[in-house]
Amino acid sequence: MPDRLAVITQLRAAGVECFTRDQWGSAAERAGAYARRRGTHPMPAAPAAYHFLHLSVTADTDTVLEGAAGARQIEGYGYSTPAMVSYQDLITNEGRYFQGQDYGTKGTHTVNDKAVPGYPRDLNLAGYACALMQNVDDEVTDAQVQLAAMVFAARELAGWVRRGAPIHPHRTFAWKSCPGDRAVARLDEIRRLKDAYVRDGLPNNQEDDMPYTEWPKKDQEALVRDVAAAVDARLAGFKKNVKTRLGRAVTKANDLKARKTASPEDVAALQAGLDELRADLAALADDTEEA
Ligand SMILES: [Zn+2]
Repeated sequence: MPDRLAVITQLRAAGVECFTRDQWGSAAERAGAYARRRGTHPMPAAPAAYHFLHLSVTADTDTVLEGAAGARQIEGYGYSTPAMVSYQDLITNEGRYFQGQDYGTKGTHTVNDKAVPGYPRDLNLAGYACALMQNVDDEVTDAQVQLAAMVFAARELAGWVRRGAPIHPHRTFAWKSCPGDRAVARLDEIRRLKDAYVRDGLPNNQEDDMPYTEWPKKDQEALVRDVAAAVDARLAGFKKNVKTRLGRAVTKANDLKARKTASPEDVAALQAGLDELRADLAALADDTEEA
């Protein structure tokens, strides 16, 4: 059997931000449910025949924290017993990846309800499922189209799915719109990209999208400068209480500046800190206008 983390390993090497179940706070992981299922529901030894594309029907995400919350919500749906994520992969429209059920372990929820001829009833034994983490009317972004193609290509390159396997939308087999018209409209593009990545290797986005573990000092400093510039622009209208907020912003900025590396948890905390800082700055702008 291939390495069960082979898809994540390839995505990370290509510069994709990936979060394992431990990292997104999976309760079932802590309880040992995924480890047990590896023993009780192994996939057949041969590479799987199909890729399946789903939609999670959860809120659209913009941040790591929202992605982690979405993954925990999807885990709680109960499509598996005990509750686990039923899909192998969760991908967000900002291009982040959250780990679901293991490769090499049977998922749930992809069933041939329409009895399409030539396909088994339990399709989970014949393929792996990737879900767009969003609602049916949310945009399917270019980053997401690329990431979906990368996931499918990585499966084939790792040997989890046979080369040239078709990508099926869930709606082919179920009386549902899943994965939604917006995703279905981009399936041909995903198929073409997947074939190109299998042929030429995954694209390397490291130049454009530096992983946080190698966040260079000059980028950190640029971020601190941006924050400082935003503060300066509002300086003229300061009220008394604003000085307290500025003190907090400087503390955070210094904290950022002192950083050389950051784990995904650090990044999540950092994101929360920056969001708070932006909220402070927005409030500052309001104060200025009132003054
Ligand atoms: Zn589905």
